[in-house]
Order: sequence, then C-alpha cells, then structure tokens
Amino acid sequence: MSTLEMSGRETKIMKIEFNTLIRHYQKYKEEYCAAMYKVVESGSYVLATEVDNFEKNFKNFVGTKHCIGVNSGLDALTLAFRSLGVGPGDEVLAPAYTYIASIMAITSNGAIPILVEPDEYYTIDVDKLEGLITNKTKAILAVHLYGQPANMTKIKEIANKYNLYVVEDCAQSHGAFHKMHMTGAWGDVGCFSFYPTKNLGAFGDAGAVVTNNDKVGEQISTLRNYGSRVKYEFEEVGINSRLDEIQAAVINVKLSHYNEIRSGREKIATTYLYNINNPHLILPRIRENSQPVWHLFVIRAEGREEFRSYLEDKGIGTQIHYPIPPHLTKAYDGLGYEAGDFPITENYSNQVLSLPLYDGMTENEVEYVVEMINAY
Ligand SMILES: *Cc1c(COP(=O)(O)O)cnc(C)c1O
Repeated sequence: MSTLEMSGRETKIMKIEFNTLIRHYQKYKEEYCAAMYKVVESGSYVLATEVDNFEKNFKNFVGTKHCIGVNSGLDALTLAFRSLGVGPGDEVLAPAYTYIASIMAITSNGAIPILVEPDEYYTIDVDKLEGLITNKTKAILAVHLYGQPANMTKIKEIANKYNLYVVEDCAQSHGAFHKMHMTGAWGDVGCFSFYPTKNLGAFGDAGAVVTNNDKVGEQISTLRNYGSRVKYEFEEVGINSRLDEIQAAVINVKLSHYNEIRSGREKIATTYLYNINNPHLILPRIRENSQPVWHLFVIRAEGREEFRSYLEDKGIGTQIHYPIPPHLTKAYDGLGYEAGDFPITENYSNQVLSLPLYDGMTENEVEYVVEMINAY
C-alpha cells in the first residue's frame, strides 16, 4: 500500500502520456494551417521563400553568420564533418553516452569515434579529453544531451590548444546557452534536428547547420543539393538533403512562439526539480553559467524497471533515453569496445528514466506525476 492510500486520501488514476504533439498543434493550429496552405498555394515546394526565411531567422536566433537548412539532424552532422575534412583514419573525440546519430555521422565519413565517458550533467567529460588526443585527432564532438549544454568553455580551450575542430550536436538544445553564447554558436559547426519530438520540431524530418565559417557554409549549401550551386553544374559529389518548404514554414511559425514553448517546458521541469523529493532518485543538475532548455527531464533510479512499471500502473508514461549505449549496439560491434569499457555510461543507461514533459501538459498533470513519484 502506498503512503497515499494509507493516509486515506483518494487519488484517482490519471492517464498521462509520455509525450503528445497534438496539444501544441491545437494551440497554434490556425497559424500552422495558414502557413502550410500558403506553401501549397505557392507552387514552390523545395528550397524557396520559406527556406530562405527560415535560414535568416535561424541564424539570427543562434547568432551565427550562416544557416543552411537540410533534411535531418543526421545529415547536418554528417555534412559538418565532411565539410571540415574529417575523413578516413581521422579520430573524433565523442561522448560514449549519446544518441547513436552523433556517432553515425562520424563513422559514415570513415572517421573513428574515440568515445569518452560523461560527466554528471550527461555531457562529455572534459577532464578525460586531453589524455585521448593523438596525432590523428581532428575534432571534438560536443552533444548537448537532454538540452543541457556541454562545458563549451573547456572544450574550446582544449580545441584551441591542440588545433582541433569543434562540432556541436544541438539536436536537443535549441535555445540553450552556455555563458553568453547559444549552443550551436560555440563550435566551428552547429548541427540541429527538427524531428517532430524535438523542442523546435517540424511536422516531418528537417535539420540545419549553422556556422561562422564562410567556406563551410558555402560548401554545405552546395553539398545538400547534389554538389550544385548553379543549376546542372556539379562541383563535387553531393547528396540530396534539401529542406522542404512546408517544414520550413512550420519551423518559422514555431520559432516565433519559441519563447513561450521554452518557458512552458521550463515551468514543468522546475516543478519537478523543486517538488520531487523521493530520496531514491537522482534529479538532473544544471551546470554553472549555463541556461539549459528542457528537452527531456531525465532522472536516475536503481531498480528502474520496477519503478517504471509502478508509474505505468499509475497511468504515467515514461521512456528510456537511451537503453543501449552506442558501443554496445550490434551496429558498432566493429569498433572493438566491450561491456564494462564505459562503466559510467553503462550505469546511466541502466538507470535513466525520462518523465512526461511537453507543451500543453497541465499543472494538474505535472503535480500528479510529482505526487505519484514521491509516494513510491
Ligand atoms: C535526434 C537526434 C539526432 C538526429 O536527428 P534526426 O533529425 O533524427 O536525424 C542527432 N543527435 C541527437 C542527440 C539527437 O537527439
């Protein structure tokens, strides 16, 4: 019997999904439909006015010189490494604890990910970087996982000292700041995803690259369109990673409301942070000098499976980001890592649990989640 039941209070089971995109859509429905309708009526569906506008809006938002819209976050990352000349035999220092796309962008260029354990903020542990640098090291990949900025001050310091590139994976950190700069503006290239569930999600796949480097910007805008700048002139072997007008129009609308979206998510996260007091759980920590955005609210629990099914019984949906770290996936058998090689990463993977957090989640729902967690 839970403490709640023993205290004689009747708490009705509420049904709370882990995530839903519908409530956000309903709130801004007229604007989204008008923007999409405008595209359909225009007769231009790929790389036209909406993409141009999006690229201007987004580079201003992040604070960089260039923004190039692409088809996905993975493409953004893949093209980032390619445009920096990171290729076969080169080594990239990358977090062991991340979503697999970060690593695939490295290996698809023929480069080798040198995996590094995370710190207590779930981002790459900067104290472990210098010892891993060899004469093959070309770049450091920072992933701002869950919306928490990595320690960019230190990463830039090390990159400058050893003459390395810095690529940022901002797929989960739209609008997060470390010190005075937004994530994406720190590195040589910043890579974004607008996959629907991301904080700035489109209604399908989309991504973008931001950079202050003219050459990189120019090359990526060419590579995303078959290596062509002028119609039917092909300068190099590119790919098709063009951004659709409809997705760009959707992101433009969402960006115009991003402050509300960000503060709405922050309010939920803050309620969790200040009110969850179950001593068996580890709550997220916020790095000094950083302003995270809340993409995921991730807690850690020993005996996670039991805790998770308790929450499920209470009607609360949760997810695990991510249950298998890249080095233990079948896809990366060939990297030569084994179970036990990254104990912190593996421990996180066994203990993390993401709580419901989405635009339109009501105060009642958030409080119910808190109450159920504290009663466990
Ligand atoms: C979502 C995500 C990506 C990939 O973005 P897609 O648009 O799905 O290709 C890369 N890195 C991280 C950390 C992500 O969360």
